[in-house]
Amino acid sequence: MAAGLPDRVDCAHLADEAVVLERVYPLGEMPRLQDLLADARGSVRARFEFAKVDSGRAGATVAVEACPQLICQRCLQGFAYEVAGSSEIEPEIYATDEGLVSLRELAEEELLLALPLVAVCSTPQTCGRAPAYETAEAPAGESNDRTRPFTALRDLLKKT
Ligand SMILES: [Zn+2]
Repeated sequence: MAAGLPDRVDCAHLADEAVVLERVYPLGEMPRLQDLLADARGSVRARFEFAKVDSGRAGATVAVEACPQLICQRCLQGFAYEVAGSSEIEPEIYATDEGLVSLRELAEEELLLALPLVAVCSTPQTCGRAPAYETAEAPAGESNDRTRPFTALRDLLKKT
């Protein structure tokens, strides 16, 4: 987290002032995301627009943009997935007893909502088959994945 920027904020106060905040978080700092990531490179840009809603309570629009490396559920290879999402929320739902909300948690929640339930890469030509350049770099003794497309899946099932 960038120094000097508080993560926990008083959403009621920010809504009174109609404050807009922007933050960038490393994807590696989002614990609930880790199972979905092929690796934790990259970051998420988040924008929080606080405002009072009709009832007089604090509201916020949370918008996120990221390009995480997801694991394709068909070929189990990592692929870059561009994602953007935005929701209007009642931050009070997420508040601690002191009325504070964690901006990082709001961003993580929004990013999880925006990601596909089942991530599948968008390259049907190569999905399920190792690209030629990766095969060339495979360690000696490794079988050719193009002839055994389910090797990775079988290995995964053995581990569980
Ligand atoms: Zn795939």
